[in-house]
Amino acid sequence: MGTSRLGGVLAFVGDDPGSKSSSIPSGSEHTLRGLGVPILEPGNLQEVMELGLHGVAMSLLSGLWTAIRVTTPVADSVGTADVWPGQVAPVLPVVEWRGVPYIPKITPNVTGQFGIDTEEELLDARIRVARAYGSANDLNHVTVETPSDWIGLASRGTVYFEMRAALGALGLDDERLRRFGIRILHVRMPDPVDAEALRRFGRGLSEIVVVEEKRSFLETTIREALYRTADPPAIVGKYDERGDTLFPQYGTLDADRLAAAIAARLSRRIEASELRAPRRPRRLLPVASADRAAYLCSGCPHNVSLRVPEETLVGGGIGCHALGGRMDPAMFGDTAIKTHMGAEGAGWIGIEPFVEDRHFVQNIGDGTYFHSG
Ligand code: SF4
Repeated sequence: MGTSRLGGVLAFVGDDPGSKSSSIPSGSEHTLRGLGVPILEPGNLQEVMELGLHGVAMSLLSGLWTAIRVTTPVADSVGTADVWPGQVAPVLPVVEWRGVPYIPKITPNVTGQFGIDTEEELLDARIRVARAYGSANDLNHVTVETPSDWIGLASRGTVYFEMRAALGALGLDDERLRRFGIRILHVRMPDPVDAEALRRFGRGLSEIVVVEEKRSFLETTIREALYRTADPPAIVGKYDERGDTLFPQYGTLDADRLAAAIAARLSRRIEASELRAPRRPRRLLPVASADRAAYLCSGCPHNVSLRVPEETLVGGGIGCHALGGRMDPAMFGDTAIKTHMGAEGAGWIGIEPFVEDRHFVQNIGDGTYFHSG
């Protein structure tokens, strides 16, 4: 339906690629692209400030929801950001649609033919405006370049800074990157992107290595932009030319992991003696096997409050009480149903007509009780 010219929406999208503090690993970029929401990807706190302001300006100009995708390394970090008046001075390109400069408006009715018209406006006008905004404000830029580069490294979000740290660990500062013909592309707005800017990045290169977490996103975009250009470079990322994994589609990528893979690519033209030996990737400590089940904290009142008469049916949800389902069933009952936050008790509605038990104990966490219990 779009956003108001005097309003705008910047959605903060949190992704935890390594499942560090969330129950499942996530990467929302494919979903956001599917929804037609332009994506901004800060790689540090400073970029959250800058890209956030761009996100608001882009939303106002295009009439789209825009999204700032914040991943765990940024969300969990502490640092200092520089802030000053006029820090971001958005360049506002004029994009014509149907012969006149596009001005966004909200489309309150998106059913039937109105929906087709809105779809056309979304794809032909709003997304084009967002793409033009990213291009006019140089949100994706080449940070290291010479006319005789042979290889290009492209990355986005926090992984860009991990990649730069990996290059640093290999002894490749900007001066040496130039000397060895290594071009660098820093992508801060991976969708929608200006294909011409990607083609400029790829011009004259023999190969492009796309360094990104999770499934291919930027890699596919670059490949699509360079397909059928004259003498295109080889493009690798998730897989190398032989189909072997280069950067895995799962988990996270840090500098230690990246350094060895990048060194292997660079060593095709750069003497190994010119590169510092990459450090061996850090390994997580193996999880110790334990016979003892997880338990509520010592002294927690739930050690008592969760106890039920023997053979009581119990429902679990989100909260420490879920541990009751792993503890002694003679004391904590048989946790028959576990559900998502806010649905505690709903399972009983479904099973009650089919079981002989007439009583059910539903546990619910304090937070859930507060907002949706
Ligand atoms: S509520 Fe959870 S975290 Fe708090 S004391 Fe009890 S078991 Fe520990």
